[in-house]
Amino acid sequence: MVETPSPYDLVVIGGGMAGVCAAIAAARRGCRAALVQDRPVLGGNASSEIRMHVCGADCSYDGLARRETGILEELRLENLVRNPQNSPSMWDLLLYEWVCREPQLDLYLNSLVLEPVMTNSRRIEAMRVRQLASERDFLLKGRYFADCSGDGQTAAQAGAEFRRGREAASEYNESLANNAADKYSLGSSLMFMARDMGRPMPFVKPEWAHTFPTDDSLAHRGHGRYRYGYWWIEWGGQLDTIADNELIRDELLKIVLGVWDHIKNHGDHGADHWALEWVGFVPGKRESRRFLGDYVLAQSDLETGRIFVDAVAYGGWPIDTHPVAGFRSSEQPCRQVAVPLYTIPLRCLYSRNIENLFFAGRNISATHIAFASTRVMATCAVMGQAVGTAVAACVRNGWTPRQATADGIAEIQQWLLADDCYIPGKTNRDVKDMARQADMRASGSTSGHGPEAVIDGIARTTQAGEHCWESLPLAGEEVWIELRWAAPQSISRLQITFDSHLEERLIFTQAEQVYAAPHIVRTVPARLVSHFTIQTPAGHGWRTVRAIAGNYRRHCREVFTPALVTPAIRISITATQGAHTARLFEIRAYT
Ligand SMILES: Cc1cc2nc3c(=O)[nH]c(=O)nc-3n(C[C@H](O)[C@H](O)[C@H](O)COP(=O)(O)OP(=O)(O)OC[C@H]3O[C@@H](n4cnc5c(N)ncnc54)[C@H](O)[C@@H]3O)c2cc1C
Repeated sequence: MVETPSPYDLVVIGGGMAGVCAAIAAARRGCRAALVQDRPVLGGNASSEIRMHVCGADCSYDGLARRETGILEELRLENLVRNPQNSPSMWDLLLYEWVCREPQLDLYLNSLVLEPVMTNSRRIEAMRVRQLASERDFLLKGRYFADCSGDGQTAAQAGAEFRRGREAASEYNESLANNAADKYSLGSSLMFMARDMGRPMPFVKPEWAHTFPTDDSLAHRGHGRYRYGYWWIEWGGQLDTIADNELIRDELLKIVLGVWDHIKNHGDHGADHWALEWVGFVPGKRESRRFLGDYVLAQSDLETGRIFVDAVAYGGWPIDTHPVAGFRSSEQPCRQVAVPLYTIPLRCLYSRNIENLFFAGRNISATHIAFASTRVMATCAVMGQAVGTAVAACVRNGWTPRQATADGIAEIQQWLLADDCYIPGKTNRDVKDMARQADMRASGSTSGHGPEAVIDGIARTTQAGEHCWESLPLAGEEVWIELRWAAPQSISRLQITFDSHLEERLIFTQAEQVYAAPHIVRTVPARLVSHFTIQTPAGHGWRTVRAIAGNYRRHCREVFTPALVTPAIRISITATQGAHTARLFEIRAYT
């Protein structure tokens, strides 16, 4: 029997970082959403099954706030607190919890989307889904669909136009592309983890694994650290990374064990006490289909830091290409070309020929060269949040994605900013935000950080300035910032955005050397405000209407039922997570 739940507003295919954020964003914006993931855990390449760390625009340090915010920042801060032991399984659990706690979102784990059911050649009606282990079949009907599956099998079956391989330089005027187009892509990889056992540990290489007897066979492949495998164990870029997946896995296993045998048994690598404790079995795929939207992101868009009119997300990871022979290449394993922060337009996140189909993640509308930057998972996550948010606007207004771009882009951008996403070049213009009409006062401010900064429309440090109110040193006293209106206002939601030190990199990784690097967030950022109260005027003093202790969120939403009816609101701060001043980037107030 096929089970047919009542139709969803959005069905998301694939629970990697893009799909998780798309589904949560849509559900939080009121959509009834389904997230269908074929694996037992969420996270895709970031899950405990594959163990890649989530990278993004914060890869390089320039003193400005490059880090992605929104749902991803929530997850990363929560992970800092809940997973100090750095366990991949705890990260799986966190993603699971974040999805499950959304009342509007149904999670289908262990569920493979088999194929789409079409209304006609331009519109998807439903997805056929097979849930393993429970042996249940579902027909998931939806108004909109988001293929966040990486490979995009379902979108391809629906007839969405896509591209594979590498474009010729002339096609999009890309200097980093080759002269001739070809069918090659980045290869796939298997990671491993090893542990220092404190005593000599032998390694017996299985007969079927490869042998790498000399360091020459691993030229340009540094192997002086053993805990967390090597991304450069990459192979299959000259094959079909989808159809040849099983063959690629088999070869990668032979390479992984051959490299470990080299470390243990060929020359002195100082690894006598080290032993393998985990070897990945699910190949981490880097590249396969790239779907075609109304725009194809290309090299020059990245290099010039282009701000699109319909920007909904951004990236900043270098253009990171690899030799197609991967591990078998004698070249360096990657070539990275730095780019400034650039934006990603909504037109790259939906199909140009299927009218209710979005994409987010590594399968978006980009050339191979642009994809080599957009593919990292923090960028995938913010694209996912953008897609979920765009779907909510489409549901409300009955738009196709193309109509949303033409008629609703300003609204979608404003929703994203209100949800603590960053879009370079876009500022808060939300007419419903009552804070923008308030007079701002504070107990005191450090030079150049007055209270009006929290309503200047930008919630992070940019080249144009710091955009934050900074109190005088707390020194045992409470400090406060106040919004005051000419007449009483009805306020049912207050949004406060604190400083989580976005200039530094916040990464959850098994690579211990990353934590040793400068400008890395290792514990809850000291700048975050931990203890604060929300107060309204009462007689000659103030009455506390909400008290929060132990906060470690950057973006706090406080809902008041019934609404506060008040001419002023004061946020009074008594402690931070360690810093001697309190810093706030934004306050929003909604009726
Ligand atoms: C070895 C390696 C190293 C990398 N290094 C980094 C790095 O350091 N940092 C970084 O950020 N990125 C890195 N990347 C790139 C990054 O991991 C990928 O680009 C990213 O995972 C893409 O995210 P996604 O959400 O689009 O897809 P995925 O992470 O692949 O998630 C898609 C999910 O959809 C599921 N799915 C697929 N088909 C279906 C279906 N029909 N039904 C249901 N579910 C389905 C898949 O099982 C998967 O779990 C690396 C990739 C590899 C392979």
